[in-house]
Amino acid sequence: MQYLSGEYWKTFDIWKNVEKSEWENWKWQLANRLTDLEDVLKVFNLNKEEIETFRRTSSIFHFGSTPYYISLIKDLNDRNNSIRKQIFPLYEEIDERIQSYGKLDPFLEDEMSPVEGLTHRYPDRVLFRATNFCSVYCRHCMRKRMFLEDERARTKQEYDRMFEYIRENKEIREVLLSGGDPLTLPNKKLEYILKNLYKIDHIDIIRIGSRELVVNPYRFFDEELLNLFDRYDKVWLVTHFNHPDEITNITRKAVKNILSTGTPVLNQTVLLKGINDDEKTIENLMRDLLRVKIKPYYLFFCDPTKGVVHFRTPLDRGIEILEYLRGRLSGLGIPIYAVDLENGLGKVPLSPNYLLDYSDGIATFRNYEGKIVRMQVEFSNLDDILTEEGKRRVL
Ligand code: SF4
Repeated sequence: MQYLSGEYWKTFDIWKNVEKSEWENWKWQLANRLTDLEDVLKVFNLNKEEIETFRRTSSIFHFGSTPYYISLIKDLNDRNNSIRKQIFPLYEEIDERIQSYGKLDPFLEDEMSPVEGLTHRYPDRVLFRATNFCSVYCRHCMRKRMFLEDERARTKQEYDRMFEYIRENKEIREVLLSGGDPLTLPNKKLEYILKNLYKIDHIDIIRIGSRELVVNPYRFFDEELLNLFDRYDKVWLVTHFNHPDEITNITRKAVKNILSTGTPVLNQTVLLKGINDDEKTIENLMRDLLRVKIKPYYLFFCDPTKGVVHFRTPLDRGIEILEYLRGRLSGLGIPIYAVDLENGLGKVPLSPNYLLDYSDGIATFRNYEGKIVRMQVEFSNLDDILTEEGKRRVL
């Protein structure tokens, strides 16, 4: 967790004249994103190769970051910095062999789409892609394909067709608003979506998947947005922190504002090679999430998306990390480690094996320290264990 004090952004040459009222305004952060090489070179020293990679990757995936997110990079020259690595293209992304692995749409979101923008994979849930704009473009994004199109929010007519489908399919109980990032939408547009979903009686939960809390926490100092959360109280927020450096004292204040509206906040992390794939980083991340009152929800194995495969860890890395967390960290801080299966076949949770044997009512467990414990967990005949008095009372 980082503590940002005073007008800390003024230590960056490019933002030294930015006023507090501007920096802390979410719209200023969006309007002043770094998006092209010219912007980037005002902040970073890139060598020839990096410039070349930047140029070549731009045609397949945008670069984009808010000033706030860049300001979290502790050393701008550190090429191994975990935040820098999430937004800066690496040569691996365009390497032919890496590009030959994975698919643009590994979960068939477009194929399972009854109406444009909507994916209906599980009976009780739909994915509602509200926009294909994000304020930060993450190199590991599983929806990279969306950003090959122009950055734009969907039209009112497109939304209306999506509402109609949801209205007609009464088995749908939950709508996952995602994107792109739905919280980059103007409040008016967001309200249009929430209001219409709210009117559909069979919808119990509106889950908003957003990275704004990570990359632009000032979004949650906007009274209008907080009022929307307050009014449309089916909303849950699921955010996406991958590294403890992304959590700050500003995050804490933003979460407090969100929780004051009665909106629960959960987090999904992606396990990323060279960014967060070690025990201590994940432990610190989970601890910091709890500190600011965000519940760790999922830890995902990196998806098989084209151009992302270089971020993949071995599958059992996540299991080893969970094994390390158990016993060190309260159960509140332990996420579900899961793999999303290709072709839209759903998520599979993976966990260390703590049940070694189970037969004839006796189970053999392994605890977090590796100690083996045998326990009788069932009694075939209650009479075997009841006292004489017990038997009389039970009868
Ligand atoms: S914020 Fe989410 S949707 Fe946008 S680029 Fe990052 S991971 Fe992808």
